[in-house]
Amino acid sequence: MEEESSSFRHPLSDGRWRNFFAGAERILPREVQAELRAHARSIRRAVEELDPWMEALCADTCPDCRDPCCTAGGIFYNLADMLYLLALEQAPPPGQTRTRTGEPCRYLGPGGCALARIQRPYVCVWFLCEPQAQRLSEEPGRVQRRVVELYLRIRRHRLALLEAVGPYRPILEDL
Ligand code: SF4
Ligand code: SF4
Repeated sequence: MEEESSSFRHPLSDGRWRNFFAGAERILPREVQAELRAHARSIRRAVEELDPWMEALCADTCPDCRDPCCTAGGIFYNLADMLYLLALEQAPPPGQTRTRTGEPCRYLGPGGCALARIQRPYVCVWFLCEPQAQRLSEEPGRVQRRVVELYLRIRRHRLALLEAVGPYRPILEDL
């Protein structure tokens, strides 16, 4: 599997959001859920390692930003994000980023994102805007290599989440 699914990458009611997590827990066999938890733990560790570096990057670039990326309308949790949240062993956020097209992201507050980085849609983790990409290119080589390695590791585990649900995927997509 090379690409992530676009399933759920759209506004969702909170009821449908909750229904996904309740339904997935009911439907997925224990061994599949255990496999999902193992991948979710690996993703979480990688995001936690990226977090201090990204916090510093944002502190440096975001306060003066004239076009904050969080105001973009197309940011959503997709199926891989939702499987990750299902397996993260903590309560998921209360809903999709928005329940209707045109609404702002519900997690965007005056001080920035209200969610811990490990709970954000992955697009909010991997996205580096131009000034941030420029900062990354100025980091020592070993830092750049580590960041890329972590991104690749996360991507591998996210694809593995989708593979792990195998034949259950169409049922999950219908929840
Ligand atoms: S990440 Fe980049 S685009 Fe987004 S708010 Fe910060 S500086 Fe602006
Ligand atoms: S989830 Fe957080 S980081 Fe992502 S768009 Fe919303 S406020 Fe921004």
